[in-house]
Order: sequence, then C-alpha cells, then structure tokens
Amino acid sequence: MSQATAYIEAVKQTIQKRDPNQPEFQEAVFSFLDAVTPVFEKHPEYIAASILERLTEPERAVQFQVAWQDDEGHMQVNRGFRVQFNSAIGPYKGGLRLHPSVNLSIIKFLGFEQVFKNSLTGLPIGGAKGGSDFDPKGKSDAEIMRFCQSFMIELQKYIGPDLDVPAGDIGVGGREIGYLYGMYKRLRESDRGVLTGKGLSYGGSLARTEATGFGLLYYLDEMLKHNDQTLAGKRIVVSGAGNVAIYAIQKAQELGATVISASDSTGYVIQDAGIDLPTLKKVKEVKRGRMSDYANAVSGATYHEGSLWDAEGLQYDIALPCATQNEINGEQAARIVKAGAIAVAEGANMPSTPEAIAEYQKAGLLFGPAKAANAGGVAVSELEMSQNSRRQADSFATVDGELKDIMVNIFQKSVAAAKEYDLGEDYDAGANIAGFTKVAEAMLAQGW
Ligand code: GLU
Repeated sequence: MSQATAYIEAVKQTIQKRDPNQPEFQEAVFSFLDAVTPVFEKHPEYIAASILERLTEPERAVQFQVAWQDDEGHMQVNRGFRVQFNSAIGPYKGGLRLHPSVNLSIIKFLGFEQVFKNSLTGLPIGGAKGGSDFDPKGKSDAEIMRFCQSFMIELQKYIGPDLDVPAGDIGVGGREIGYLYGMYKRLRESDRGVLTGKGLSYGGSLARTEATGFGLLYYLDEMLKHNDQTLAGKRIVVSGAGNVAIYAIQKAQELGATVISASDSTGYVIQDAGIDLPTLKKVKEVKRGRMSDYANAVSGATYHEGSLWDAEGLQYDIALPCATQNEINGEQAARIVKAGAIAVAEGANMPSTPEAIAEYQKAGLLFGPAKAANAGGVAVSELEMSQNSRRQADSFATVDGELKDIMVNIFQKSVAAAKEYDLGEDYDAGANIAGFTKVAEAMLAQGW
C-alpha cells in the first residue's frame, strides 16, 4: 500500500469511528477521497499538513430549536442546522433545505460537496449548508412565514454578508428567502448581501431563478461538444419538477432537445411529444400543485406512480436527475443504460449512488457529476453578492453570459485535471481534483 493510500484509509477510518451514523456524509466523503488519492501520490506535502482531516470536519456546525405556531394555535418544534464546512477560499456559502428527511448527515454531505462545487466556480466562496426537518408540504403561507421568521431568529447569530451567505435549496424558494430576509432586516442592520435568491425588487439578481437548470444544460452542451455530439434532436428524461428541473427543461427545449418526463415524490409523467413548459410552470410555481395535476391539465401525458427510474421500456439519449440525493441506485442505473442513454448529468446533489456511477462508467456513459454540473446556482448567487456589494444590478444577458462562461470553464477544468493525472475522460474524478486543489492550496498558504 502506498503512503497516499494508507493515509486515505486512515482518514476513512477516523470518519467511520467519529460519524458512524451518517451514511450520506460518508458516501460523499468516501467517493471524494477515492477520487483525490492520485493527488496525494504526487503531493506528499498535503499529507503532512493534515489537509484531509481538516477538510472532512466542519469548521463550525450549529443545531438549534425552531418553535413556531401553526394555524390551529399549537406550538410546533423543529430542528434547525447550519454547517459551515470550509472557508479557505471565501465566506461560507450554500443553501438551506426544508424537508422532513433533513438531519445532520444530510446537511454535512451537502456542505462538504458545496466546498468543492464552490471552488470549481472559480469565485471566492467557501462551503456551507443548512436547513430543517420542517415539512413545507401542505402548510399555509402564514405557517411558512412564521416558521421562516423563527428559523431566522436563531440563524442570524451565525451569518453575515462577509461571514456566511445562505440561499435556497429543496423547499426554499423566493417566497421563503423573502420571509427570511424580512426577519433578518428587523433583527440586524440591513444588508442585502446576507442572503441570495432574493426577489428582484429588493436586491435579487436576474437569472438566479434559472441559474441551476440553465447551468446544467450549458455544462451538458459542453460535455457533448467535447465528444462530437450536440443537444439538437436528443430525447431527454428529467426527474424532479422543482426549480432545477423546470429551468433545465426550458434550456433543453431552447437548445433543440425534447424532454419527455418530469416527476415528484409520488409519481412521474411521460409525454412523448415533450413537456408543456407553460403548464408545468403554472402548476408548480403558481398553484404549488403535483405532477398528477399537471397530467390532468395537458393532453398526451400519462401519469404513473413510483420512481421514474423504475419505468420499463423507455428509450432516450440523456438522463438528467434533478430531484434529490440517491434517487438512482445501481439497478436503476442499469435501466438508464438499457434505455440507450449516452450521457447523465446531475442537476440534484448526489442523485446517483456509487453503484449507479459504477454502472455508468462500466457502460462508457458520459457522466457530469453534481458538484460540477449543478454549480450554476451557487455561481449566480455569488454574482448576486457581487452586485449587492456594488449597489448595482446587471442585465439578464450579462449574468446569463457569465453563467455560461463559468459552466464551460468548470467542464474544461475537470477535463484538464483528469488529463494531468492520466484519468482519461473521467470528469467526475477531474471535478473532484480541480475543486480540491484550489482549496488545498489556499489552506496551505494560510499556514498551520
Ligand atoms: N442550493 C444550491 C446548491 O446546492 C445553491 C446554493 C447557493 O446559491 O448558495 O448549490
């Protein structure tokens, strides 16, 4: 066993011992550690500086109580988190997730991934994540507001425009950011740069809403071009029907592809002629409805209960998982291969299990990992911070153009890093290595 492999094994054992009940966190960290092993073969100085011990332990993690009053007048109690993972290259940055599955393992995996994703954007932002096990489903607008206000009363102690800048994630969109920001403003000196994903009337950036989905397609387009393919005429399956999925579908259609599916946690829709985007937006963004409502509102769509990835007999060229972590297991990945797919690009965070990624690699699929492919959201968040500092608002075309450059750059950086370490066209390993190298250099430069 080489010195590097022994070091990586020792770090894994430490994590296993310290965080035995954090499966998502372990999954994210172990895949990353495997990918960056070659860097330690080449740079033994990183071992001496205990870079990985420092990188795999959050710099700060807070857990707090969020008590709020429901519409019946009862006091409800949820658990809130903010994990500030690493600030070597800039202030902590990352979203807030509101979903019943949220626990420390999930927030830590997301915060860990965010460190390298943010590094890949080339912008000066560190990594963090937060959220709560609050379930927004079925809650009234007033309940959402009271929850957000209570959440911010605690969170404001740990954030600030130069310290930690939260944004949205699953369950947190423009409405929630507005309520969170409103409370922050009452409690602290108002500074717009403390949250991103704000409304346009109070410091938000044009193209932030579209950024993750558009960015995913810019990355995919570049990955296909690099392999002498184009998006025009391709059949695409998208999972999810939230903010990432909706704008991925829009950009895919604009680039000449046909998107035949969308899904939520109960079921999925197949529509051979292509998803009707205006109706999907109306059902999801205006009415906050379900995919079954969408299927009833259009013609030519069939609704099925269960996971899209279990659907038999579909034929398509590209899969874009945009729902949630571990939505595709090994068996489902084999079904994607059978469907004739040539590429998978991840809009959600860690939607493919390690077994699924192994299936893609075995079949030679082009694979764009989340930390590279979905970095467009946080990239435009940083552009929003920058506009807030300048007290200016850039045009849609300016922001969208910058987003596209950033996504192309992320792909090219991943290719270059894979080449440097003789890893062929492994864009996953390349993204991990490129994201990691910048953070490691910054940590070393700042001393022991
Ligand atoms: N939640 C998004 C992500 O996973 C965006 C985070 C942000 O804009 O800070 O990257």
